[in-house]
Formats: sequence, structure tokens, C-alpha cells
Amino acid sequence: MSNRSLRPAPNNPDLMHSFFHDAADALYVLDLHGRMLLVNDAFVSQYGWTYEETVNQPLCFIPEQLVSEYRQLWNQARYGQRISGYKTKGKRKDGTAIPVCLSCFPLRDTAGNIVGISTISKDITADIKMIEELRESEAHYRSLIEATNDIIGIYDLQLKQKFVSPSIRLHSGYSPQEYMAADVKDMIHPDDLANVLTTYQTLSAEKKAAQVEYRAKHKNGAWVHLEARAVPILNERQEVENILVVERNITERKQNEEFLRKAEKLSVIGELAAGIAHEIRNPLTALKGFVQYLQPLLPEHKRLTQIMLAELERINLIVSEMLVLAKPQSLKTKRKDVRQLLCNVITLLKPEANMQNIDIITRFDNRPLEIECEENQLKQVFINIIKNALEAVSRNGKITIRTEPRDHNQVLIRFIDDGCGIPCEMIHKLGEPFYTTKEKGTGLGLMISSKIVKDHGGTLHITSEQGKGTTVEITLPISHQ
Ligand code: ADP
Ligand code: MG
Repeated sequence: MSNRSLRPAPNNPDLMHSFFHDAADALYVLDLHGRMLLVNDAFVSQYGWTYEETVNQPLCFIPEQLVSEYRQLWNQARYGQRISGYKTKGKRKDGTAIPVCLSCFPLRDTAGNIVGISTISKDITADIKMIEELRESEAHYRSLIEATNDIIGIYDLQLKQKFVSPSIRLHSGYSPQEYMAADVKDMIHPDDLANVLTTYQTLSAEKKAAQVEYRAKHKNGAWVHLEARAVPILNERQEVENILVVERNITERKQNEEFLRKAEKLSVIGELAAGIAHEIRNPLTALKGFVQYLQPLLPEHKRLTQIMLAELERINLIVSEMLVLAKPQSLKTKRKDVRQLLCNVITLLKPEANMQNIDIITRFDNRPLEIECEENQLKQVFINIIKNALEAVSRNGKITIRTEPRDHNQVLIRFIDDGCGIPCEMIHKLGEPFYTTKEKGTGLGLMISSKIVKDHGGTLHITSEQGKGTTVEITLPISHQ
């Protein structure tokens, strides 16, 4: 620091001179006729024009198309207005344009009369470049956010949403606007809400990223499984202000896990059933033998022993059917008559139908209807379809099963029920995995059935009328040899 004391500016031309010329921004002063009175050094280096040049060509530093704009600006200053932060362009001596931010104000004499206009011209090339770079990187991020399948959202600590990516529509059915207006907490499954809230609380307390899985309600009412990765966003004081959440829809993965679990369970049950069926058959054989032995000894109870034998035979049949189904699939095809397969399956399901007083009526064609097939798989199809019919028909209803040849080389099997039917807007959903309207349904029956029928070179077709009933038509190629 210099020790030299300064005289106050009004009486110190040196100070004023230095203030004017050493300023970082370009400064210039015009008289009321638009003539240049003064330019500072920064003006000369910024624009490249000398003071003399601006005197000789007063508008040289203004792009032609902006002259009237500048004139208007100066006119305002001339009438006493102060203008600041006016963004426009100037023209360098080399002809290039220079983005500038102008401040213009009137210059007054000691009596207060306006005698000139002074202008500060700040070069904003760097600012504009920065804004452009920002805009560009923002555009990059935006396209990333728009292209990504994941849901990207920003929430405050009260879980109020501040931003959500358009992909929200894909996974929740809600448009971003609808989602922004909703209460996020209402969309989270009540059983998962506490877990989600604790995760976000721990995250903001520990300032560490966290992960949580939860179910969210889709607009159509279904639950969607989401895996959320959350990262705290800190403010300048290093406090957590917002949370950035990237969510992935893992519903399909969850369903696959569930499917595997169910399939596993079914195969365990299948094995168990096979074991039990086996165990039942042995005592059954003994019982049958004894009854046959007793029959001639109890002539007065012949009717009773006959019924006992018939019932034992039925048990045997059902148990045999269970064994066939539970047996590991051999995947060897054999020629079989569909009517025989249907009869076997009906034997298995008849008790259930009887319990609900549902008639299973068969109308089979007399001609042989032999097909080349994997017996167990086709039985599984028939069981699925008859079980669906049983579930759709209320007490005292009926299910009719018809078979007939079609076009010489096809057999047509029809399962007709007079049950609840299927609303027509739902028909196209049938056969989609996990589509079920039943509380304990799997929504796999029709999917597996159509796959099996297709593998056998056949077709499966469903027609239905709500409230009237449903018909499932299966065609399969007849085996002529
Ligand atoms: P699940 O029986 O486990 O629900 P399915 O794939 O067998 O799975 O059937 C899917 C859905 O199709 C059922 O939930 C039901 O809504 C409908 N459906 C199938 N068959 C019938 C039928 N005969 N009558 C009425 N609805 C049916
Ligand atoms: Mg079913």
C-alpha cells in the first residue's frame, strides 16, 4: 500500500483518469449529438478501434442491423433514464461480433443538465460460452434422462417430488404431470412405506447412498415392484437437501422368482402325491382281495360287497391317474384316443364336480379319434381347462365336452360351460402369464395349455360371453397311422 494520500476525486484529475482508463470494462462517452468524446483503454483493446477511428466513423463499433437499437438506448439515457444489463452485440474492427452487456446513463454538468451519455460495455463472451456449455450439458443430461428406462426422480426430505423423468409413465401409468401432483406416499404399498421412509431418513442422517425395494401402485391398480437407489444431494452447507432416486422396475424378475417358487412347490407336491398314491395302492390291493374273498362267504350282503368293490375300483382309478400325472415326464409321444384321455381326466375331476352339483356331460363322436401325443401333457391341458370351467360355473351348472373330427385330419374338442364368462375387453389377456381373476389363481394354466397344444401342432381358441358362458376349442392333428 502506498503512503501517498489521495485528494478527493472531484479535485483530482489523475484519479479520475486512472479510474476511467484502468477499468476492466470498456467505457465510452458520447455527446448529445452522438459524437464520441472519450473511450478508455479497455474499449480499444476490446473492440480494436482507436479513439480517432470512433470519432471519424461514429457508429463503427455497432453492427449495422443494431444501429437503431443503440440509438434508442442512448435516446433513453439522453432523457434521463439509466439502463443497465442490456444484452446486445458490438462489432470489432476485424468485423467479428462481440456479445456485450451495456449500461448507459446520462452525464450531467454541475448545473444538472444532461450533456452526454456514458456507456459501460462488458464483454460477455465467456458468460455466453458458459451458458451455452451448460445448456449443452443440460441437453445431454435431458436426453439421457428421457432415453433411460429407469425412473429418475428428485425428492425433498418430506418425500415431496421435485422432478421425475418421463419414464414414470412407462412403469406407473401416470404422466409426469399427474405423478408430480400426487402424494408419493399414497402410491407406496402400505406394508412397504415404513421401510422406504426409514431408508430415506437413514440416508439423510448418514449422508450415504442407500437402496430399497418396494411396491408402488400402478394407475391400473396393479402393484409394481421397484428397486430404488437413492443418493443424497447436499447444499453448500453440506446438509442433505434433496434425494436423487433412480428406480428400476423389477416386477418381471419378482414374478419369475415367484413362478419358480410355485413350480418348485408344485413339483414337490407332485412327488409327494406320487409317493402317497403308491402307498395307497398297496393297502387298496389288499382290501380288494379281501372283499373279493369275502363276497362268496357273505351271500346275504352281496349288494354291499359289490358296492365296496366298485368304490375300491374307483379309488384305484383315481390313484392311478394321479400317478400318471406325477410321473416324471417321459416326453415320448404315443398314439392315443382323445376320448380315452378325456375319460381319464373326467374320472379325476368328477368328485369335485359332484360336490358342487355340476354336471359334466360328454358328447363324443363314435369314430376313433387317435392323435400322436405326450399323454401327460395333454391330460394336463384338459385338467386345466375343465378346472377353469368348474371354477367359472356356479352350483348346478353344466359343462359339456364334445369331440368330433374336422376336415378329416383334425379333431375338434370343445369344452362348453354356462359359467360367468369373460368380459370381452379381457379376452385378449387370456394366456398372458400371471393373468388371473382368482384370489388363489396362478394365471399360468392357459399359458401352459396353449403352449402344449401348439407343441402338438394344434390350436386353442376361446370364445366367451359375459354372464352366459365360455367355450374353449382345441384342435389337434389326427394320426391316421
Ligand atoms: P387361473 O385359473 O390360475 O386364474 P388360467 O390361466 O387357467 O389361470 O386362467 C386365467 C383366467 O382366465 C382366469 O383367472 C379366469 O378369469 C379366466 N378364465 C379361464 N377359463 C375361464 C372360463 N371357463 N370361464 C370364465 N373365465 C375363465
Ligand atoms: Mg386355471
